[in-house]
Amino acid sequence: MKSSDYNYFIPYKDGHIFFNGITKRFFLASEKNHAKLMDIISRPDDYREKYAPFLERMSAEGFVVEDDVQEMDIIREEFDRKRNSGQYTLMVLPTYDCNLRCWYCIQEHQNMTLSDETVARIKKHIEKYLLENEIKEFRLSWFGGEPLLAYRKLIEITRFSKDFCECHHIGFFSDMTTNSLLLTSERIKELGGLGVRSFQITIDGCREKHNQVKRDKDNAAFDKAVNNVLEIVRTIPDAYCILRINYSDQTLEPGKIMHDVNLMIPHEYRKQIFVMSTMHISIAYSRMEMSESATMRNPKMPKAC
Ligand code: SF4
Repeated sequence: MKSSDYNYFIPYKDGHIFFNGITKRFFLASEKNHAKLMDIISRPDDYREKYAPFLERMSAEGFVVEDDVQEMDIIREEFDRKRNSGQYTLMVLPTYDCNLRCWYCIQEHQNMTLSDETVARIKKHIEKYLLENEIKEFRLSWFGGEPLLAYRKLIEITRFSKDFCECHHIGFFSDMTTNSLLLTSERIKELGGLGVRSFQITIDGCREKHNQVKRDKDNAAFDKAVNNVLEIVRTIPDAYCILRINYSDQTLEPGKIMHDVNLMIPHEYRKQIFVMSTMHISIAYSRMEMSESATMRNPKMPKAC
């Protein structure tokens, strides 16, 4: 047995997060145990008998592999599988600029938007790539900055993509990541009509905390965002919204956040809303209700050693 070449040991608080880049499995090791666990994973043959159950588990999660396993072959196969799946996702950042200034933002907010020439090139790329690669499903993803600042360009490319896909019998789906403050009822209708079906909207804490991070002129960013979520799921019955909860040690108050969201989202619309956090806890909102009993995406992984 040998250690995977794709193990990452990331310092976190007093311990380390163990992460495998091929299987995407992870767990948190305590300060007391992480050095020992790293050693076992690095030299599995030396511990084969003494820690057999642990190594069996590590093998199932990809942290250790048999000597004859070529991990690069696994990566190549996955790459080919994705490339030949008939699906294609194109992510477009129509601007780096934003109408907000969150403290944690990594964008430099350069005042750059898509030129007409770039729009024409994107359209050409879509035509050529989809046809030459016999793409069966095309996903157009909008990201930024705040993509809605370039609304007319976004609409132009989305409309073009939808029409082109319809004409060539290619499945089409579009999604966007947005702070949502530039959405209006008319825009939601228009986007729904053009095949935008997924909206990822960030929530930075309960109403009070969110409004401290996302400062808009009315100090009402939280209510505007959650009202837009409601408007989206009411207007586009087959759309869904992902509430991405960004949090710090000071703002992670799930009970308060869900209380404030629940007050504004009637029960019947919750099945279209999902909650995701930066720690990749992903649950159906309708099942979360007011509790904090999140189902982890890696439920079988040990949470701590
Ligand atoms: S809303 Fe997004 S893009 Fe805008 S400042 Fe905040 S994190 Fe950055």
